Amino acid sequence: MQTLKAEVVAISPLTEFVHKVILKPQQPVTFEAGQYMQLVLGEKDKRAFSIASRPSQCDAIELHIGASGADSYAMQSLEHLRNAHTTGQLVDIEAGLGISQLRLQCERPIILLAGGTGFSYAKSMADHLAEIKCDRPVLFYWGVKEESALYAHTEMQTWADSHKNFEFIPVVENPSANWQGHTGYVHKAVIQDIVSLAPYDIYMAGRFDMIGIVRDDFITHGAIRENMYADAFAFIK
Ligand SMILES: Cc1cc2nc3c(=O)[nH]c(=O)nc-3n(C[C@H](O)[C@H](O)[C@H](O)COP(=O)(O)OP(=O)(O)OC[C@H]3O[C@@H](n4cnc5c(N)ncnc54)[C@H](O)[C@@H]3O)c2cc1C
Repeated sequence: MQTLKAEVVAISPLTEFVHKVILKPQQPVTFEAGQYMQLVLGEKDKRAFSIASRPSQCDAIELHIGASGADSYAMQSLEHLRNAHTTGQLVDIEAGLGISQLRLQCERPIILLAGGTGFSYAKSMADHLAEIKCDRPVLFYWGVKEESALYAHTEMQTWADSHKNFEFIPVVENPSANWQGHTGYVHKAVIQDIVSLAPYDIYMAGRFDMIGIVRDDFITHGAIRENMYADAFAFIK
């Protein structure tokens, strides 16, 4: 783990509820694709956010923070970052955390499964896999409640179009009449598309209740527990 001070360079809306934050650490940051950082609000108050940028971007950290509700965990974090941005104060962060980073030592096909702002975790790995020209099959499923939450739809379609072994599958839980893609819960779309999950390495991020359900449903569908990665596992039964 690296303890750093960082400048808040920019905060911009991705949707009504999700904000992109760019931090510039005072020293180059070291992390692996799929790791997270903590924003230090107090000695015992540290807030976890996945790093959306890829490891080669060591001079900047991109975060996607989904914040709604005045007193929520994420909104308080965003307010802390906004204050620092306005006053020019540096924020304290701890980077390179987590044990669910991308494993590159094998040839197994990969599923990246993101629910909502869990996208941030999967995006770092997707961009890193593109950068190293990975030739393993990579399926990127991104589930959101409404189409308007697919803030990086075009970017991820471009990512998929750039490599014949990459595929991007957006899944909308409550679609409009115009939506032509998958619908419902994102992990149900995976189960519908893939006969058995036994061959896959599976990386996932999203709400804690989602991750518990996905773990159990995927194991029933053949996934091997040792090949499933989610930092949320540390927080749930
Ligand atoms: C290590 C760590 C890192 C984190 N990083 C971030 C971060 O970078 N940014 C951030 O904002 N928060 C982060 N969090 C907090 C948490 O992961 C988010 O609150 C969560 O991902 C937010 O999801 P959402 O509200 O956007 O999803 P929602 O909009 O509620 O759901 C999106 C999709 O997820 C699926 N889904 C949701 N609930 C269920 C369910 N019960 N069953 C099945 N599928 C379901 C569905 O497909 C749904 O459409 C982090 C937490 C930890 C522990």
